[in-house]
Amino acid sequence: TTTTATRTINSLAGEADTLLGSLGVKRSRYTGGKLIARSPITGEITGHVNEIGAADAQAAIDRAHAAFLEWRLVPAPKRGELVRLLGEELRASKQALGRLVSIEAGKIASEGLGEVQEMIDICDFAVGLSRQLYGLTIATERSEHRMMESWHPLGVTGIISAFNFPVAVWSWNAALALICGNSIVWKPSEKTPLTALATEALLNRALERFKAEGGKAPDALSAVLFGGRDIGEILVDHAKVPLVSATGSTAMGRIVAPRLAKRFARAILELGGNNAAIVTPTADLDLTLRGVAFAAMGTAGQRCTTLRRLFLHESIYDTFLPRLKRAYESVTIGDPLKDGTLVGPLIDAAAFASMQKALSEARAAGGKVFGGERVLSDGADEAYYVRPALVEISEQTGPVVHETFAPILYVIKYRDFNAVLELHNAVSQGLSSSIFTNDLREAEAFLSVRGSDCGIANVNIGPSGAEIGGAFGGEKETGGGRESGSDAWKAYMRRATNTVNFGRTLPLAQGVKFDV
Ligand code: NAD
Repeated sequence: TTTTATRTINSLAGEADTLLGSLGVKRSRYTGGKLIARSPITGEITGHVNEIGAADAQAAIDRAHAAFLEWRLVPAPKRGELVRLLGEELRASKQALGRLVSIEAGKIASEGLGEVQEMIDICDFAVGLSRQLYGLTIATERSEHRMMESWHPLGVTGIISAFNFPVAVWSWNAALALICGNSIVWKPSEKTPLTALATEALLNRALERFKAEGGKAPDALSAVLFGGRDIGEILVDHAKVPLVSATGSTAMGRIVAPRLAKRFARAILELGGNNAAIVTPTADLDLTLRGVAFAAMGTAGQRCTTLRRLFLHESIYDTFLPRLKRAYESVTIGDPLKDGTLVGPLIDAAAFASMQKALSEARAAGGKVFGGERVLSDGADEAYYVRPALVEISEQTGPVVHETFAPILYVIKYRDFNAVLELHNAVSQGLSSSIFTNDLREAEAFLSVRGSDCGIANVNIGPSGAEIGGAFGGEKETGGGRESGSDAWKAYMRRATNTVNFGRTLPLAQGVKFDV
């Protein structure tokens, strides 16, 4: 056992074991397997999870399809009752699961808990929605006819998730899919199997209570496939999976999207972002500083919505940047479970290497790099803490146009508002965006058709984070999918247009005559 600047190595495996026990996960599930779970806080191993084999994965999906055939017949508000119980289990286990998220993904304590709160919120949303899966009644041109649309369950919903929201992304999809009458099959990130085990156990508790109340839920309603990319591909290629919701890098989406298209399956793609904020001359700089600091450094830069490009108007550049630098110098980096820590570790060595590569490319492109170095490495060789980096750069080029999943904020000076709007949109990703301004014209222009081209556009709030009530997702290489609130549920159902003739004649549409 070594003591590091952060904590004692080997302290977290024991704690994870206790938490998993309290959440109802059997120890045999995370001992003796090939999939190695680690905590980025110390780099220590926290579990060995059993991977599923290819044949077993196929069989699990087949069983989920059989379960769908039954579940679709359960009335939607009854399906909502299962999700209500899941929400109750999550409330009861919020502390334990939130802590496990922090241990496994390295999030600060409040963000670990926040992730579980997001799961609770989507359950509440889905329960209400289970009584609101409305179709339209549509005016028909034929007399004594009625035209309407019906929304029907779709089938097995495949869920592929990333390490950085190890459980919330599952819940966004699972809660909607379940109330929509679908069964679910989840391939969690291979970097975060323990939180997936815990989530599976909580859903099982909810299922047991549901059945004890007399609810009818088939056994294979939900499956979790532990494994890597190869297992994800089985889910993507399986003929009985009509919808796959895949969250992760654009590189992953580039492989997954054509495979789904080939068999005409639906995709909800939630891929990489390269999010920006524009700070205009009238911005409230105190508010902006807090918004920028959280969005750029929070979660150690490992959110899909992390702020990565900052456009500062030349009139405030020299007042705002020194204040931002001071925030970067003074931010507390370290053990995310300790009170007061704001920036935890990167997920692993590969994340650190890609950050350093981007920073050297930025230097080569003429960027002035501030911060970005490894810190707290003494004793914990496999824990990667970094000081978040600020890069002053004059052109939007090189690493600035790519997503590096680490805390690097590129700062670019601008003069002309219309030109900065163009620059803002001149990257291939389109997830989230912000403007900090008190000028009504600028704010409205940013939200208008000639403004931000992203799925999320905010005023006087950073781009990072979202509430579940709105639809979440982005354009271009972010993949175009929408999850969570608004009418995102429609992607999980199939729409049938129905026309009923209650008359005694058969008028044809468009005045067509066909008398036999
Ligand atoms: P990743 O692409 O490495 O992995 C994501 C998931 O995809 C994992 O479960 C992985 O096993 C699986 N996968 C990889 N290749 C696959 C393939 N060919 N077929 C099927 N499954 C495959 O991403 P990551 O490093 O875990 O997460 C970080 C990335 O995720 C960032 O790019 C981030 O922006 C993105 N992200 C996006 C959103 C969003 O909502 N837009 C949310 C969170 C993360």
